[in-house]
Amino acid sequence: MTYQIKKAAVLGSGVMGSGIAAHLANIGIPVLLLDIVPGKLTEEEATKGLTLEDGIVRNKIAAGALQKLVKQKPAPLTKKSNLSLIEAGNFEDDLDKLKEVDWIIEVIVENLDVKKGLYEKIDAVRKPGTIITSNTSGISIEAMAAGRSEDFQKHFMGTHFFNPPRYLKLLEIIPASTTAPEVIEFMTRFGEDTLGKGVVIAKDTPNFIANRIGTYGLLITLREMEKRGYSIGEVDSVTGTLIGRPTSATFRTLDVVGLDTFMHVAKNVYDKTEGEEQKVFELPPFMKKMIDNGWIGAKAKQGFYLKK
Ligand code: NAD
Repeated sequence: MTYQIKKAAVLGSGVMGSGIAAHLANIGIPVLLLDIVPGKLTEEEATKGLTLEDGIVRNKIAAGALQKLVKQKPAPLTKKSNLSLIEAGNFEDDLDKLKEVDWIIEVIVENLDVKKGLYEKIDAVRKPGTIITSNTSGISIEAMAAGRSEDFQKHFMGTHFFNPPRYLKLLEIIPASTTAPEVIEFMTRFGEDTLGKGVVIAKDTPNFIANRIGTYGLLITLREMEKRGYSIGEVDSVTGTLIGRPTSATFRTLDVVGLDTFMHVAKNVYDKTEGEEQKVFELPPFMKKMIDNGWIGAKAKQGFYLKK
C-alpha cells in the first residue's frame, strides 16, 4: 500500500493540538481540529441564554484554539499562515468526518484510559489504512494499541512533537510491535521531508528518550533550587538568556508546557520505577500546591510567571 496525507485530523485543541494544527496548515495540509464539548455552561453563557446545544458552546474549545492560532507566527520553514485550512469541530458531532482523513493525530490529555476510550471510537469510524498516531509524552504505545482492530494496530504509533511544535525540530517516532514497517518508514520520511523535522526513532519505554532525561533534569533542578535557595529568576537566567538560549530551559518552559501536563509526564516514569530512581520522579510539594491552586502555567495565565 502507498500512503499519502492529503488531509489530517488533530484530536485535542489544547497547547499542543492547536500548535500541531497550525504547523500542518502552514505546510498546506487541510486539518480537522476536534475537542470535547464542555459539560456545563459558564455563567456568562447562561446569562446570554445560550444552551449546551448552541454551536458557539459546542465548538468553543476548538474555536478558542483557532483564535489563539491567529496570533501564532508560522515557523520559517513553512510557507505562510494558512488558518483557513483548519476546520474546527467537536467529538460528539463531527467524529464521523474522520472517514475523510488520511492521518489522525491524538493530542488529548495524558491519561491512558481517556486516550483508549477515544481510540475505540476512532476505530469504529475511520477508513482502513488511515494512519493514527499519538502525541503522548511517554505512555506505552503498546498499551494504547491493545484491544484495537488489526488494521488500527498496524497503522498506529507515537509521533511525539515538542513544544512549540511549529518551531522545535525534534520528532520522536515510537512504533509498537504491531506497527507495520512500511508505515514506520512512511511516517519517518513524511516527518523529515514534509513536516521539516529531525526524526529519532525511540523505543517504547516510559517517556521515551527526550522526556525521560528532560523530566529527570527538570526535577533535579527544582530540588537543587529548593535545597540551595536559588530564586526562579536566577535559575531561569543561567539556563536561559545568560547562557545564550532565547528563553529559559526551566521555569518559563514549565509554564509553556503546563504544570498539569508535566505532572502526568513525571508520573509516567514514577509508576514504572522503584526505589531511588522512582524518588526523583516525584513532584516537589510546592508544585503540587500550585497545581491544586490552578496555577498550571501560561494556559491558566498563572504559573511561575503571570501571563498578561
Ligand atoms: P492541554 O491540557 O493543553 O490540552 C488537552 C486537550 O485535551 C484539551 O483541549 C481538552 O479539552 C482535551 N481533553 C481533556 N479531556 C478529554 C477527554 N476526556 N476526551 C477528549 N479530550 C479531552 O494538553 P497538551 O499540553 O496539549 O497535551 C496533549 C498531549 O500532548 C498529552 O498527551 C501531552 O503529554 C502531550 N505533549 C504535551 C507537551 C507540552 O509541552 N504541553 C509536549 C509534548 C507532548
